[in-house]
Amino acid sequence: MATPIGNMSDLSKRAKYILSKVSLIACEDTRRSGIFLKKLDIKASLKSFHKHNTKKRLGELLKILEAGKSIALISDAGLPGISDPGEELVLAAKQLGIKVICIPGPCAALTALVASGLPSNKFSFEGFLPSKKKDRAIAISKIAKQERTTLLYESPYKLIKLLEELGKACGNERPIQVARELTKLHEEFIGPTIDSAINYFKSNEPKGEFTIVLGGNHHIEDSQVDEDSELLYKMKKLINNGYSYSIAAKKVAIETGCSKRLLYSLLHKSSSSDSLSKETVED
Ligand code: SAM
Repeated sequence: MATPIGNMSDLSKRAKYILSKVSLIACEDTRRSGIFLKKLDIKASLKSFHKHNTKKRLGELLKILEAGKSIALISDAGLPGISDPGEELVLAAKQLGIKVICIPGPCAALTALVASGLPSNKFSFEGFLPSKKKDRAIAISKIAKQERTTLLYESPYKLIKLLEELGKACGNERPIQVARELTKLHEEFIGPTIDSAINYFKSNEPKGEFTIVLGGNHHIEDSQVDEDSELLYKMKKLINNGYSYSIAAKKVAIETGCSKRLLYSLLHKSSSSDSLSKETVED
């Protein structure tokens, strides 16, 4: 079940209702969740479930569920299972045929993405990057090549280092939005490039919670567009000199090694939008 990432008003009515009805609440930190539940005036029994006791607790929680009781799983903030404990319990419960539902709500990554202005139709959630040097370098190099938007979590203490690493791998002009303190009083977005974010944080010490929304690598797409334009230019030049579409495609296929069928369809696609002007071709 999702809990707020900073703003208590973001807890849904349904979440509050279920928290007040379940037999047990499994949470990362019983002290922290105790304070949260007190604010809601909910008295519940709590059991800790975090990355250091997952194995030990899993069996206990499953027994409770198998006995027909209900458990609400919450984390310190946001959605459990998203850079937080939860995945193992959900999987184990489902394997036993126990019904699992998610009460949706705040998640820092999606909240940042939606407000970032960067493409949200395709994205990849990476959470916290590995800290081991080699694993981290591999992860960053993969991220740098991705066309889709990347979502990352980072602590304030390591934010500048991460931005510098991303700058090296992606180029300092890559679009970025660093979301700070989402849903809270001092919520802000810093960008629009890696370079400008680094400069900002070098004079404004990073404080609070951060989610990074990194724009994708569109260089690959651009180079494909350039390649297509060059092939079209060659074919249209031949057509202007009296060759048919089919012969023009065949000649350029021989010259470039591209498939004739692909060239022919490129030509047909462009003739409807007529992307090259006659003057350019006749040049
Ligand atoms: N499960 C959570 C979720 O659904 O977003 C994420 C938990 S992860 C352990 C905590 C990290 O999420 C923080 O270190 C920060 O990177 C990001 N985060 C959480 N709350 C945030 C907020 N209000 N603003 C910006 N980032 C936040």
